[in-house]
Amino acid sequence: MNKYSQQRFDVLVVGGGPAGMAAAISAAKSGTRVGIVDENPSLGGQIWRGESSTGSHSSEAASWLNQVNAAGVTPLCAKRIFHQPEPGVLLAEGLDDVCELSYRTLVLATGARERFLPFPGWTLPNVAGAGGLQALVKSGLPIRGKRVVVAGSGPLLLAVAAYLCSHGAEIPLICEQSSWGKLVKFGITLFGQPGKIAQGLRIKKEIAGAPFSANSWPLAAHGKNVLEAVTISRAGRPEVVKCDYLACGFHLVPNVELPLLVGCQTRCGYVQVDDLQQTTVKDVFCAGEPTGIGGVDLALVGGQIAGLAATGQVSEAKAVFHKREKLRRFARALDEAFCLRSELRSLPASDTLVCRCEDVPYSRLREHTSWRSAKLHTRCGMGPCQGRICGPATQFLFKWNPDSVRPPVFPARVENLAITTAPQQSIPAVTGELQ
Ligand SMILES: Cc1cc2nc3c(=O)[nH]c(=O)nc-3n(C[C@H](O)[C@H](O)[C@H](O)COP(=O)(O)OP(=O)(O)OC[C@H]3O[C@@H](n4cnc5c(N)ncnc54)[C@H](O)[C@@H]3O)c2cc1C
Repeated sequence: MNKYSQQRFDVLVVGGGPAGMAAAISAAKSGTRVGIVDENPSLGGQIWRGESSTGSHSSEAASWLNQVNAAGVTPLCAKRIFHQPEPGVLLAEGLDDVCELSYRTLVLATGARERFLPFPGWTLPNVAGAGGLQALVKSGLPIRGKRVVVAGSGPLLLAVAAYLCSHGAEIPLICEQSSWGKLVKFGITLFGQPGKIAQGLRIKKEIAGAPFSANSWPLAAHGKNVLEAVTISRAGRPEVVKCDYLACGFHLVPNVELPLLVGCQTRCGYVQVDDLQQTTVKDVFCAGEPTGIGGVDLALVGGQIAGLAATGQVSEAKAVFHKREKLRRFARALDEAFCLRSELRSLPASDTLVCRCEDVPYSRLREHTSWRSAKLHTRCGMGPCQGRICGPATQFLFKWNPDSVRPPVFPARVENLAITTAPQQSIPAVTGELQ
C-alpha cells in the first residue's frame, strides 16, 4: 500500500535552501498559494541543514525559517521530486507516500553538491566529502578529539574546518589545490564585500592553529580496514599525515538534473536564466547554485528575484538587481580561484574505482572516448547515484560531456515508478491509496 495524494499550487518551489526559501517568501507576498518541497526532513538547505530540527539555528537561519512560516508557504519536507509526467506536474516521493504536485509557475532551487575526484584509497571508510562529514557531525557523529585532514578545493574547506574545530576536532592540515597567486587575487576581490571579509575573519579565528597549505592535494589514502593516514602532495613533495578522517571535496557542481528534465537549457554547465531568473522554459524560474556557484548571499538574492518575477512583481525584482550584480562578481572570482589544476587528472591509479556504485576502475574507463560509450560498456554512472559522483569526475578526468537526463532523476520505489506509467483514470482524484 502506498499513500497517494495531489496538491495544487500557483507557485511551486523545489529546494528548501536559501534560494528556495527566499523565492517562496517573495512569491507569497503576492497572495498566491506557494508550496516549497525539499527532500530533507526540514528546510534550510546545505548551509542551515538540520538547524531547525535541533533548535540550534543561527539567527540568520531562524529569521528565514520564521519568514517562510509567517508568509503562509506550505512546506513539503522529506519529499524528493523524481519525475515530471507532464508539463505543470511533478511527482515527489516521500517515506511512505507519493505526491502529485501541480503548479502554474515553477521555481527550481536545487542547489549544488560536492565534486569528488578519485585517488587511490578514496573509497576507504572515514574518507568523506568535506560537506558530507560536516553533515554527519550535524546529525550527531562524535568528532571531538578526532584528527581530520581537510583537503580539496574551495571556500567550503575552510567553513568545514572551522565547524569541525568548533566541535572539538583536531585539524592537522588543510590542503587547497589552488595556488597562492590565485588565492591572493581572490582575497583582493573580497575587499568590496565587507560581509565576506567578516565571515572570513570569523573562520580564520575558529581555525586558528590549523596549518593551511596551498598547492597541495591528496595523493592516496591509506589504512587496512579504515583510514589511518593520507599522503599529501604538499608544494611538490609527498608528505604522510596520520588522521582519523579525511574530509575531501573539490569545490561544487550545480544540481542541474531536474532543470534539464523540465527542459531548461544550460550554458557552461549552469542553468541559463535571464535577468528575472526566468529559464528558457516558459513559467519556469531558477535560482541559487544551479545558476552559478556564488555562496549563500547570491542564492538569497537570486531566490528573491525569482519569487518576485514568478508572481509578476517585476519592478520589485528589478530593484534588487544591483545587489545580485555585485555578488555575481564574487561568483566569477570563485570560479577563477578554484578551477582545478590539470595535475589532478593523474591522481587515479589503474585500479582506482571511479564509479564506486558499479565498481568501475579507471583502467576500464580509459578505453572509452565518451560518457555514453563508457556507460554502455562498463555500467559507469548506472548505479544508485546515477552518475552524480562519477559524472563530474569523468567530465574532469576525460573531458566527457554527460548524456541527456532521463526520468526518474533520482532512484524511486518501483510502485511509485508504476504511477508514472499508469493511465490517468486509475489515479485517485484527490487523496487516496494505491495498492
Ligand atoms: C555539502 C555542502 C555543504 C555546504 N556547507 C556550507 C557551509 O557550511 N557554509 C557555507 O557558507 N556554505 C556551505 N555550502 C554552500 C551553500 O550550499 C551555498 O552557498 C548556498 O547556501 C546554496 O543555496 P541554494 O539554496 O542554492 O542550495 P542548497 O542550500 O543546496 O539547497 C538546495 C536544496 O534543494 C534540495 N533538492 C535538490 N533536488 C531536489 C529534489 N529533486 N527534490 C527535493 N529537494 C531537492 C536539496 O536537498 C537542498 O536542500 C555547502 C554546500 C554543500 C554542497
